[in-house]
Amino acid sequence: EAKNRGKSAFQRFAPEMKEVSQERLQTESLLRRALEMQEFELRFQPILRLGDSRIMGAEALLRWNNPTLGMVPPDRFIPLAEETGLIITIGRWVIREACRTVSRWQKQTGDPVIMAVNVSPRQFRDPHFVETVSAALQETGLEGQYLELEITERLILDNNLETDRVLRDLDEMGVRLSVDDFGTGYSALGYLKNYPFDTLKIDKSFVGDLNRDSDDTALVSAIINMAHSLGLKVVAEGVEYQDQLEFLSTERCDYAQGFLFTHPLNEREFLLWCSDHMDG
Ligand code: C2E
Ligand code: MG
Ligand code: MG
Ligand code: MG
Repeated sequence: EAKNRGKSAFQRFAPEMKEVSQERLQTESLLRRALEMQEFELRFQPILRLGDSRIMGAEALLRWNNPTLGMVPPDRFIPLAEETGLIITIGRWVIREACRTVSRWQKQTGDPVIMAVNVSPRQFRDPHFVETVSAALQETGLEGQYLELEITERLILDNNLETDRVLRDLDEMGVRLSVDDFGTGYSALGYLKNYPFDTLKIDKSFVGDLNRDSDDTALVSAIINMAHSLGLKVVAEGVEYQDQLEFLSTERCDYAQGFLFTHPLNEREFLLWCSDHMDG
């Protein structure tokens, strides 16, 4: 009985395994060619200052538009890009493209907008990472203070001397540094004091539960106060409702980002959104 059940379970399972790995192989080979085929695009989501609702900047969010797979969201290919190391060349493209874009906006509008760019652990640990960033700034003529690199808590907590050196080198270049997805790591808060971070981004899972969960309400308020006492600015991500925004304003959160304002936009849409927002 048990043996038969085991066997049939195996037979049901095995073909799926094969499918999964074949799908993965296909995705991987498509991903290898994606850069040269120019299949990557950036979307931009505005980050607004809560005090006066002015546009502080934008977060660049990567999209992979492949003829076979369609529009692939980052959560579906960034882990694979990390595993294969492809994230290093893809990430280099993202940084350069983001710098180029924001430098163009600044020239067009005269506004000192900031571009936030996500950096994944493997990319950050690439020995040429600092060089990649400084080359992108140099090529595009962008000042470091207009580029903000978003690094996840997990990376910082893997703590080693190299992380420390890279963060300091970036800080010396004037680049801004932010902790993304704050609260989802192990929250060994000590690192905030020891590293040159400028901004802390409260993970959207806390913001999402603000209206329902009073523990999250207390947590968000504590995070904001703690960040401020360490001299960090706070961005709340994933803001979808007006009452979340009101709570965040009352708690003196500095910036907000989320579908309440707009989902991520392509460059043309973003510039239109900004000019509407300024007028309105
Ligand atoms: P993230 O950096 O935390 O980015 C915020 C994510 O939340 C984005 O998802 C954004 O579209 C989404 N979002 C924005 N507002 C709202 C909201 O009001 N509600 C909800 N539910 N979601 C909202 P996206 O674009 O799918 O990106 C997912 C993740 O992929 C990012 O999370 C980031 O970790 C990673 N990622 C995106 N672009 C890049 C990139 O260029 N390089 C690297 N290494 N990672 C990237
Ligand atoms: Mg981010
Ligand atoms: Mg700094
Ligand atoms: Mg985040």
